[in-house]
Amino acid sequence: MHENLAPYASCPENSQGRIFHEEESQLRSCFQRDRDRIIHSSAFRRLDRKTQVFVDPDKDNVRTRLTHSLEVSQIARTIARELGLNEDLTEAICLAHDLGHPPFGHAGQEILNECMLPYGGFEHNLQSLRIVDLLEHRYASFLGLNLTFETREGILKHCDQKTALNLGEIGKRFINRTQPSLEAQLANIADLIAYNHHDIDDGLRAKILNINDFIQFDWAKSVIDKIEKNKDFPKLMNYEFVRILLNLAVLDLIEETKKNLIRFNIKNTKDVRSSEKTIVSFSDNLKNIQDELKNFLMQNFYLNDQVKKLSDQAEKVIPKLFNFFLANPKNLPPYFYEQFLLFTKSPGQEPARIICDYIAGMTDRFALNHYNEVTNDK
Ligand code: MG
Repeated sequence: MHENLAPYASCPENSQGRIFHEEESQLRSCFQRDRDRIIHSSAFRRLDRKTQVFVDPDKDNVRTRLTHSLEVSQIARTIARELGLNEDLTEAICLAHDLGHPPFGHAGQEILNECMLPYGGFEHNLQSLRIVDLLEHRYASFLGLNLTFETREGILKHCDQKTALNLGEIGKRFINRTQPSLEAQLANIADLIAYNHHDIDDGLRAKILNINDFIQFDWAKSVIDKIEKNKDFPKLMNYEFVRILLNLAVLDLIEETKKNLIRFNIKNTKDVRSSEKTIVSFSDNLKNIQDELKNFLMQNFYLNDQVKKLSDQAEKVIPKLFNFFLANPKNLPPYFYEQFLLFTKSPGQEPARIICDYIAGMTDRFALNHYNEVTNDK
């Protein structure tokens, strides 16, 4: 046993293992290997050129899916260490959680789903799993990265019951309504903490948001009072504002989770999994603050014209590419075309899924260039 791990943490020695058997490494635990496989994957590298909220990933200082994933991982690892959870597993889940995101942010996900509705739909969370289970092809003996059960279950944050029935062991918790590991629960909330706060940061920097907009919230007033002394340095004031809010969220999550561990009498991983409630959670007060932030960002940031440009691009590019490849599958790269033909001949398989895989894997830039080639619309 690891001396730094709490008894309710996921322990590599007790992992439910990989789909294909592999000898253990002498140097790294199974969760360290998972994390390393994710970092070396091409889907991970492409996150660098996928937009989070803003249109142009070439712009300095703007968040991309890669920097978002690193921020999620940083936040979650800090909390994992404090709670005695497994940092390697936490990091692996966080780094992989957005691998399946298509180009052009959330708008891209919605539009690709619309294109795929007649063929089973598209969900980025399931796509992340599809990437690590099937689409990354780097090993001679199997498709995918052959990650451990624990990393795969963490990547699958949510899932409807019908889909869960086809996912074997990792789908079971959605049917039985049980909980995943604490590391998976943590990665999920760290995602929310990261995007709420970095979207405020991006919004303030782009001058779409202003600190004074937050005065309407009681919890923000005391923070603004604290940083008032920096008002001659608005940039610093913005940083201080986001930092204090982020810190409040992290500290609250740690304290409330510690209380929950006692409240629900969690002694080991079995107790974690059979718990009716999520154990890693905010206090009610912080939950309200996060909800208010989310609504505020929706009204004042995500619907802003500058941010909505991303939806316009997604609406323009993705359906065009999807329909083009559906009508001209021979224009797919050779590997995807082979898979397309294979799916055409296999009962129960949907060839459009291969086109969806190809488009979902594109970076913003690659999708735009492809669109220009297809339409000559320079
Ligand atoms: Mg995310």
